[in-house]
Amino acid sequence: MTGLTIAAARTSDQVDADLASALAAIVGADNVLTEFEARRAYAHDRLPFANFRERAGKLAGVVPRLVVRPGSAAEVQAVVKLARAGRVELIPFGNGSGVLGGTIPLHREVMVDLRRLDRIVALNPHDAMVTVEAGMNGAVFEQALNAEGFTTGHFPQSIEISTVGGWAACRGGGQASSRYGKIEDMVIGLKAVLPDGTPLEIRPVARRSVGPSVRDLLVGGEGAFGIITELTLRLWRLPEAERGVVVALPSLEAAWEAARRIMQAELRPTVVRIYDARESADRTEGLDQFKTKPILAILVFSGSEPMLGAEQRAALDIIASVGGEVAPDGPFHHWKENRYVAYSQKWQAAGYYNDTVEVTGNWSAIPGMYAAMSAAVHAIYPQIHFGAHWSHVYPEGACQYMTIRLPPMDEAEALPLHAKLWEALQSLALEQGGSIAHHHGVGLFRNPWIKAELGAGHAVLQAIKDALDPDNLMNPGKLGLRPATGAVDVRHG
Ligand SMILES: Cc1cc2nc3c(=O)[nH]c(=O)nc-3n(C[C@H](O)[C@H](O)[C@H](O)COP(=O)(O)OP(=O)(O)OC[C@H]3O[C@@H](n4cnc5c(N)ncnc54)[C@H](O)[C@@H]3O)c2cc1C
Repeated sequence: MTGLTIAAARTSDQVDADLASALAAIVGADNVLTEFEARRAYAHDRLPFANFRERAGKLAGVVPRLVVRPGSAAEVQAVVKLARAGRVELIPFGNGSGVLGGTIPLHREVMVDLRRLDRIVALNPHDAMVTVEAGMNGAVFEQALNAEGFTTGHFPQSIEISTVGGWAACRGGGQASSRYGKIEDMVIGLKAVLPDGTPLEIRPVARRSVGPSVRDLLVGGEGAFGIITELTLRLWRLPEAERGVVVALPSLEAAWEAARRIMQAELRPTVVRIYDARESADRTEGLDQFKTKPILAILVFSGSEPMLGAEQRAALDIIASVGGEVAPDGPFHHWKENRYVAYSQKWQAAGYYNDTVEVTGNWSAIPGMYAAMSAAVHAIYPQIHFGAHWSHVYPEGACQYMTIRLPPMDEAEALPLHAKLWEALQSLALEQGGSIAHHHGVGLFRNPWIKAELGAGHAVLQAIKDALDPDNLMNPGKLGLRPATGAVDVRHG
């Protein structure tokens, strides 16, 4: 039953005392949360729709039955075995920074909060690898590596509010993806607990040719195929130097063309960010270059000096050939200082309906995709705030990251508009041959489109899920997979 008010959930709440004491026998009583308010904090992640609901005193899903906080892989395994024996549904929880509802309980799930698994297990500079427990905070992890002179190169905007396990489970991407790759390029090995309690180890080895990648059931598995307890990631030395360059370009077409040619020339800038006219204008006020060349791009180059300089020169030659010119570096410093700020919170708190949607398109599709999406959202609500940037680029194409914002209005008017906006953006991504998701994952909010995205591949995923988790206990109803019987349907409340 969706649309339940928080007050009604509180009144009808009952704690499962037997289950709580069985879990306490594994993790200690302090690590089983039974109080209503403590559990309610886990009823949402950063899914904007859940936020809109809570603003109106309602839940998107339900309040979890209990929260358990294991402190070791052995405890995770014992919790999973207990849950399997008692047919208890579980949701692995990193830090709840997901924006698609991946950790929202929909039935009677117990949350498995992994944040006590927070240690670096081994640093192996010789083989360029680091092994870390899955619940370690991303920023704490990166700072610890920096102190030793290393980095993983994974810098999601949410680094301060997410865990390493969450990065892998959502198949995420960081701001430096054009140099260091996305999380799937970084995970060399992992340890996990499968839905029946079996421990799984993908040994960290440079490469293997031994059938399909079992690792990728977990990397991108969003907690539906098991709980990741440990990861081994690729390690890099901190770059000797880093240089940010701000560029003014005459048009979006010129900017896309430059990014395409830079990537196809095998250059590896650390960061490439192209902003549409709306987002450029917000960041370039008072800068003369942008009066005639209104499109902003920020590039960052890093590494050892001779390589960095050569890469920068080659990239700037390409930019000059499409009519771009170097501009003052204020927008680079502004981006750098604010790169981990979560802007959505500010808009939600002021009553706006702010959301972001990231999709992937190939270079040949990007111009049509952007034009069609911009036209579609304006047709749905002419006064909408719509802005886009392209912040992950590849030889083949790019991620188009869009912000959509409706002004404060009644929830009954806003939610149908919000649903139409999502429908338009996701359907157009598919129509243009792109992907519905670049790095935020699927959670529950992308359930309506995942079958169209994956085709027969989705039935393959469901068959694997059924084989590994016949009682459908591990994060049911996410990734468009079969929900638990009687579960809440979040989109139709
Ligand atoms: C302001 C903001 C900016 C963001 N920027 C980025 C960005 O730049 N790049 C990016 O990739 N994402 C971004 N995100 C999305 C989000 O932060 C990422 O998806 C992040 O990886 C989620 O990590 P988490 O630890 O918070 O996971 P959670 O939100 O707790 O969980 C997400 C999903 O992963 C599963 N899960 C979590 N931990 C495990 C585990 N150990 N084993 C198995 N399953 C697990 C959960 O069950 C759930 O399905 C952003 C979010 C916000 C709010």
